[in-house]
Amino acid sequence: MKIEEVKSTVKTQRISSHSHIKGLGLDENGVPIQFAAGLVGQENAREAAGIVVEMVKSKKMAGRAVLMAGPPGTGKTAIALAMAQELGNKVPFCPMVGSEVFSSEIKKTEVLMENFRRAIGLRIKETKEVFEGEVTEIKPFETENPMGGLGKTVSHVLITLKTAKGTRQLKMDPSIHEALTKEKVVEGDVIYVEANSGAVKRQGRSDTHAPEYDLEAEEYVPLPKGDVHKKKEVIQDVTLHDLDVANARPQGGQDILSMMGQLIKSKKTEITDKLRVEINKVVNRYIDQGIAELVPGVLFIDEIHMLDIETFTYLHQALESAIAPIVVFATNRGRCEVRGASDIISPHGLPLDLLDRLLIIRTCPYNESEMCQIIKLRAQTEGLSIDTEALNELSKIGSRSTLRYATQLLTPANLSAKVNGRSTITKEDIQEVGELFLDANKLDILFLIHVLSCALFMIHLYRRNQL
Ligand code: ATP
Repeated sequence: MKIEEVKSTVKTQRISSHSHIKGLGLDENGVPIQFAAGLVGQENAREAAGIVVEMVKSKKMAGRAVLMAGPPGTGKTAIALAMAQELGNKVPFCPMVGSEVFSSEIKKTEVLMENFRRAIGLRIKETKEVFEGEVTEIKPFETENPMGGLGKTVSHVLITLKTAKGTRQLKMDPSIHEALTKEKVVEGDVIYVEANSGAVKRQGRSDTHAPEYDLEAEEYVPLPKGDVHKKKEVIQDVTLHDLDVANARPQGGQDILSMMGQLIKSKKTEITDKLRVEINKVVNRYIDQGIAELVPGVLFIDEIHMLDIETFTYLHQALESAIAPIVVFATNRGRCEVRGASDIISPHGLPLDLLDRLLIIRTCPYNESEMCQIIKLRAQTEGLSIDTEALNELSKIGSRSTLRYATQLLTPANLSAKVNGRSTITKEDIQEVGELFLDANKLDILFLIHVLSCALFMIHLYRRNQL
């Protein structure tokens, strides 16, 4: 199996609500700036997280973990993600929820192990032959839909490059066009085209964190003869879990029958301990040869109180293993039962021996002006336009219920604005959707009213029977 064939298995959906977060936003002395790197307020927690990052960098975190404790929507996940970003570019961040371990099909420890391996990256360096060129034009070619359907389809893309030996046109697969557009490659950018795979790489730009983008285009482009070829170090980031999955997938011929056979036989790929041991051996060999480097990332386990005593014992052991990610737990519970050991009541539902290993960071509720800043940021990230009055109204709603509820109203409010023929969200849109949907507080009040009316009805029946 070739490393190039390994596809990323990153859980993107759960991270997308944090796409505005770019780091912890600390100054050079580790002091948080009120609003920086996409994070607002929560200064104490951010400063503490910065210290943890420093401990990780100086390799002083072995065997320990972090616990983020605070009410819902106070940025526990956001800060954990920011810690991963502070650790470096492309450091894996694997978020999961405690309850994910309870599956009727997979062992609890297996789920944990899978997520541990998702949070450990491997950076592979290879030297490849490339030629360099400046993009002068990217032109997609549209043709009639070959399946006879409606509309047109991009059949290929012509990229015009200015290279050392003149101008070259490369006919590329449309996937390259998509990749180029996604990474916002524009005319004037310098790109590299690989000799063997035809993959396109982009030189890093000052407005991005990444030193280089791998555009993962797969069309083979023969090297233009006479151009100046360069040896270039190409870096690929994968996680140990990506390697597990790629190797567990049944390999074989590409004829339709064998592919169908695979589909029928292998509904689920099985990753065995034996396979993991084999992969570890290969990885260790790569590391010894200097081809690869391990990049421990962050494993974030939300709702940690959902885990039980068995999984806590496993976690304890996993934290001590030679290759472990930085484990960040989060909970919004105070003292509660340890699952599976109902006689033990402890802070956050964690066994005391695990608590001893934790650095605990507290997150506090936001005030209205901080909410306002965060909601504005979310609106910008989602490309929504919102006026000041609407922002203030949403912040008020947020402080009455939760920040998450307030940010979730943004999309329906935008739809309401569109229906009313506006492109900007106004206070009326917020009020309209606020009336349509319930927040947790309103639910509590409705429940209370329901209980009260039931009680009154019972009293009424009781009295009537007595008369
Ligand atoms: P829960 O306990 O429900 O899991 P949480 O404490 O993990 O909640 P997040 O999911 O991190 O809360 O935050 C909710 C939303 O608000 C996310 O979109 C997050 O990015 C954003 N957010 C939270 N805190 C901040 C902050 N300080 N600055 C910017 N955005 C924030």
